[in-house]
Amino acid sequence: MSRALLLLTCVVSSLAVAAPEHSPRPGGIAVIDLGAADAAPPAVRYGGKPVLVMQEGERWHAVVGIPLDTAPGTLAIEVEGSDNVFDVAAHAYEEQRLTVKNQSYVTPDQAQLDRIGRERRILDAALNSFRDVTVDDLSLIAPVDGRRSSSFGLRRFFNEQPRSPHKGMDIAAGTGTPIAAPLDGIVTATGDFFFNGKTVIVDHGQGFVTLYCHLSEIAVEEGQAVSTGDTIGLVGATGRVTGPHLHFGTYLNGTAVDPAILIAD
Ligand SMILES: [Zn+2]
Repeated sequence: MSRALLLLTCVVSSLAVAAPEHSPRPGGIAVIDLGAADAAPPAVRYGGKPVLVMQEGERWHAVVGIPLDTAPGTLAIEVEGSDNVFDVAAHAYEEQRLTVKNQSYVTPDQAQLDRIGRERRILDAALNSFRDVTVDDLSLIAPVDGRRSSSFGLRRFFNEQPRSPHKGMDIAAGTGTPIAAPLDGIVTATGDFFFNGKTVIVDHGQGFVTLYCHLSEIAVEEGQAVSTGDTIGLVGATGRVTGPHLHFGTYLNGTAVDPAILIAD
């Protein structure tokens, strides 16, 4: 084969790859071959929740979000009622200790706890939505240009009190920077939340959901369809933050996964 033809073959095959890289670690994504795509896609569940199934080449693949608190070892998904087992590797995430000056963010009062509870239910509903449509590509463009932290999974302590681990990627950008939809989808929630500030959630189908927090402005409405590149809001510093940045979250089967696996560079 000539060198030019070999190069062309590589380009074509890399374009044809639509599923994310198999990343079987806590907070990662498992891509599991389910067999030939010569019949309807098999029904897959993990932890009682439906799992995204997509066709790649001539095969069906399950694309499973692995929870951050998963212990290394074997993990089973349910495929048409039978267990399908794969290995989850260990991964060491870092720790960070922060001092937060506004004490109400560390120890919320009862009214704030009530508000946080109401908002949690809205966020959980949107992050767990499952729209049964064909999904053929999960690769994302970066929602804003800027330095991307590798802080997904970071275990944080605010004023020495442990908090849940960081479930997204922080991208440094100035207030007012436009945020682009990284893939086609439908806006399923918007609001101004206690911790997350002004927030947008976009549903890309089959439980693949993206989250944008701390915006200065929201540019979309619930129910609105967005296309890759559309502006969904502007970067800001609303909610519990120390400065302007975008908190970008990616979810599969209701579980936060590392956005770095999904952003195509
Ligand atoms: Zn963040």
